Amino acid sequence: MDKRVIMIMVDGFGIPEKGWRNSIYSEFCGSRFVGLLSDFSIPVRTDMGIEGIPQSATGQTALFTGFNAAKIMGMHMQGFPGPKLREIICRRNLFSNLMEKGKKVAFANAYVQYTLEELASMRLKSVTTTMVESSIGWVRNIEDLLSGKAVYHDLTRKTIKSNISIQEISPKQAARDLLSISNEHDFTLFEYFLTDRAGHKPNSGVLKEVLGDLSVFVCELVDSATENTLIILTGDHGNCEDISTKRHTKNPVPLFVYGHPLPRDNEIASIEEIYYFILEDIFKIPKSSSGVV
Ligand SMILES: [Zn+2]
Repeated sequence: MDKRVIMIMVDGFGIPEKGWRNSIYSEFCGSRFVGLLSDFSIPVRTDMGIEGIPQSATGQTALFTGFNAAKIMGMHMQGFPGPKLREIICRRNLFSNLMEKGKKVAFANAYVQYTLEELASMRLKSVTTTMVESSIGWVRNIEDLLSGKAVYHDLTRKTIKSNISIQEISPKQAARDLLSISNEHDFTLFEYFLTDRAGHKPNSGVLKEVLGDLSVFVCELVDSATENTLIILTGDHGNCEDISTKRHTKNPVPLFVYGHPLPRDNEIASIEEIYYFILEDIFKIPKSSSGVV
């Protein structure tokens, strides 16, 4: 049986300068999470050979399209992608490429506040929303969420603002929901961006909660995954690992791979190469048909 691949994209999640141990992660996430990340990940650079501080729009575009987005733009671009980056994302991305090869893909995040059409008209489109709109064409909503067929971006649903009362769940339950979605798909993506938001805030109490939830979620995914499940976790740029600054960092991000051989150190030098690692190494899609230009 083919592997079920789960990818978690954690925004603003870098490797601390002094390593995983004795870091903010060991303080807020516990030794199990730190042990997993240090044993099953390699560092990947996010600067793409361009000066300045790495940012989300170019970082995530690189991660999900394989294009060196910062080089194309001549700089690191923050926030939501503009027209040129959106054009790149629509040209090809992990979802569209896998779908072309007959794979079943899922974006697990629930869209509770707005529909995909409303977001499109508001031009408030993140990299992942742009990618979903141009490939899958629909997003999971509150009904999907309440029936365990989606995961809310805070994992626990505690920040949902809704007219109906919504019960909070544990990060462990969110992990089990994600595993059940992944059982029906070849590739399932989940995006966690509260790490970046917390990294921009001066209050480390928020970061403690956000990293605490993330670590419980990741440990449960690893513990409850079957042998057919492969888990990838990576980031778009550093931020939350360094509480001495409220800005992004130039630190590398981890490429965590569980259930599949880890690439050798330096085999994946830069963030855009993660795209090819997923297509070629994991899905065995040859480079000639993985959209190289
Ligand atoms: Zn940020």
